[in-house]
Amino acid sequence: MQSITCKAYAKINLALDVLGRRPDGYHEVKMVMQTIGLYDELIFEKIAFTDDSGPIKIETSSSAIPTDENNLVYRAAAAIFARYKPDCGIKITLTKNIPVAAGMAGGSTDAAAVFHGLNALFGLKMTVNEMCEMGVKIGADVPYCIIGGIALAEGIGEELTPLPPPPPCQILIVKPDISVSTKWVYENLKVNELEFHPDINGMIAAIHHQDLDGIIKKMGNVLETVTIEKYPVIKEIKNKLLAFGAENALMSGSGPTVFAIFRNEAKAQAAYIEMRDEYEVYLTKFVNRKDNYIFS
Ligand code: ATP
Repeated sequence: MQSITCKAYAKINLALDVLGRRPDGYHEVKMVMQTIGLYDELIFEKIAFTDDSGPIKIETSSSAIPTDENNLVYRAAAAIFARYKPDCGIKITLTKNIPVAAGMAGGSTDAAAVFHGLNALFGLKMTVNEMCEMGVKIGADVPYCIIGGIALAEGIGEELTPLPPPPPCQILIVKPDISVSTKWVYENLKVNELEFHPDINGMIAAIHHQDLDGIIKKMGNVLETVTIEKYPVIKEIKNKLLAFGAENALMSGSGPTVFAIFRNEAKAQAAYIEMRDEYEVYLTKFVNRKDNYIFS
């Protein structure tokens, strides 16, 4: 096999709580993550070592991200090359569809796809646990992106408990034209002054009971306290989505992207059409964990 193509799916947070700050500066989180059908595409091609610029080459359609060692794709590939020393180089072509710095784990999911893609292309026989152990050194969300689907994430995000797929529904993604740094949001979170914590255990119970009403009621994200204060447009988007008939709407991750759950497909379509002139919008669904869903 000379090349392989992988899909790297975006995530939303159905619920996100921060429990405290650890001595090492990381935050202790408790969140429910769900893969959605918006994805980047990565093509991995074996290449010969032709020059001394190193074995990893990255090409991307996006001008918003680096192609050097600052790209999480590069870091994941470099970690694999350092451990397994394959006898050829790799060219990675990244087609970026997931908005950058938007709260949908775009960089982390690309890194996760590198672990799956190079594992298959080079026949490395890495287990999912081995990939996750390497992945967490690249970013706290990378292990979740390696397993995908729906999961409870605790610790810094790397302690994962897979959950059963929730009932299907329509998901409308709305992103205003702003980029938010995850680091900035966590630095500005006043974790000891939070007046509200989402009921994550209630969310998990609703998921186990296939109770979409319960899932909708238990949606909550403590990071809204920081990001909405600086960018009120996020609250405006939530209100518009509710006015269009969404069951509920919530900021994903550190924002600024908002997702809404619709039961009614026609209402979701109408909201999509109304909002697409003003914002970046995607109408999509949950994607469940399948053995090989990342390979196209
Ligand atoms: P999260 O939801 O995990 O907080 P995010 O969706 O908010 O992540 P990303 O899209 O992952 O944010 O981008 C965060 C930063 O990472 C950007 O400033 C970007 O330059 C950098 N970055 C490095 N590699 C990538 C990549 N492959 N795709 C997107 N961003 C990348």
